Amino acid sequence: MVQKFGGSSVGTVERIKHVAELVAKAKVQHPHLVVVVSAMRGETDRLLGLAGQMAPRPDPRETDALVATGEQVSAAMLAIALRDRGVPAVSMSGPQMLVRTDGMFSRARIKSIDRSAIDRALMRGQVVVATGFQGMDDEGNLTTLGRGGSDTSAVALAAALHAARCDIYTDVLGVYTADPNLCPDAKKLDVIAFEEMMEMASAGSKVLQIRSVELAMNHNMPVRVRSTFSDDPGTLVTADDEHIERLVVRGVSHDNGDIKVTVRRIPDRPGVAATLFRGLSKAGINIDVIVQNASEDGKTDVSFTVAKADAAQTEELVREAARELQGGNVEVDHSISKVSIVGVGMRAHAGVAAEMFQALHEAGVNIAMITTSEIKVTCVIARAQVEKAVKALHARFELHAGGKKATSTTPAAKKVSKPKPKTKAKVAARRGKKR
Ligand code: ADP
Ligand code: ASP
Ligand code: MG
Repeated sequence: MVQKFGGSSVGTVERIKHVAELVAKAKVQHPHLVVVVSAMRGETDRLLGLAGQMAPRPDPRETDALVATGEQVSAAMLAIALRDRGVPAVSMSGPQMLVRTDGMFSRARIKSIDRSAIDRALMRGQVVVATGFQGMDDEGNLTTLGRGGSDTSAVALAAALHAARCDIYTDVLGVYTADPNLCPDAKKLDVIAFEEMMEMASAGSKVLQIRSVELAMNHNMPVRVRSTFSDDPGTLVTADDEHIERLVVRGVSHDNGDIKVTVRRIPDRPGVAATLFRGLSKAGINIDVIVQNASEDGKTDVSFTVAKADAAQTEELVREAARELQGGNVEVDHSISKVSIVGVGMRAHAGVAAEMFQALHEAGVNIAMITTSEIKVTCVIARAQVEKAVKALHARFELHAGGKKATSTTPAAKKVSKPKPKTKAKVAARRGKKR
């Protein structure tokens, strides 16, 4: 069994003691128990702030070495608390567990985990208290997995150890139809399909890091999201099957973590997009929504969104590319948000996007950019209107009342409504296309 406790669950000394109680109880039921911890709430931000005080653009390797300490503190503290209760426990860092990653500092991806050290501790009867969020590259450098990365550590460990399940303990009861901190009408879901959770996570529902859902789906590892502060069974994230009621829209997600970059008047000819995005791809920067305007006198404008954290580097790389292309101005808009609706029922339903646009229109929300996938529609809007937009969409698709059932399929839509086999290759191809 793998359990993960997030930042707020280990946010204070008292809370770590509470987690120790939960773990002690779980150990009776699950003799082979691995517990993954995040840094204490606010600690990662505090450490990033310290790095920022040392240099305007802190060295990435040393920044990872610094922020990785947050998880080491909470892992050791929890192990101390467990031992004090007579529960045999040992803390282990990413390098101690041989969590191998690539060398992309601050956004590394796990390549492999050597389970032998963990197995030895489990065989000795110890609870393994693992640091989330960190690993080691081929050169032995400490790396971190991106914000929220402890979720991914937990699922990766669960997969490597062939665990029965991975439980993610957090500060809300489970996965809701919208962020419960923004939308008071949001309802907790009992179950959600991997695919829907992945789209919600990618659309900003950061209750789970997107990569953790992708890993869970590829390894068919059931994940339960639940609260550290309640006995509620939480939300099961699992493979799509007939037990999951088909709804047109499962949830509304929003994301305030992106900025919009617009490059004006670049030539409209083959190779321009390639030049524009080559540098960003090399730097490992993820592009999300991209819009290219109709061209006029052989010149065109391109807009796209990237994570705020990548803003400075993106601006630099894009200015360089724009110069190379003899393009015009580069503009950066920091006050955008993305709002998305997600649901597998969309495959079999026509008119869902139109209904979303109508709801936003009636709420007086202007749409700046639109993008869709098979089971998601995303609109870029002004940051100031995000709360209004989420509430309007939540009401429109009746999510407060269990959601609109996906029944009335159109003849054309019926053709694609059969669940398709989900293979690793398909997921990779689909995600690759989107980025
Ligand atoms: P942890 O520190 O435990 O990893 P996070 O802050 O990363 O916790 O994730 C939990 C938070 O995710 C919740 O407090 C909530 O505000 C936010 N959240 C956003 N969207 C959703 C959603 N659809 N369902 C539940 N929580 C959500
Ligand atoms: N501590 C890291 C963060 O704040 C990882 C995590 O909490 O999952 O992003
Ligand atoms: Mg988190």
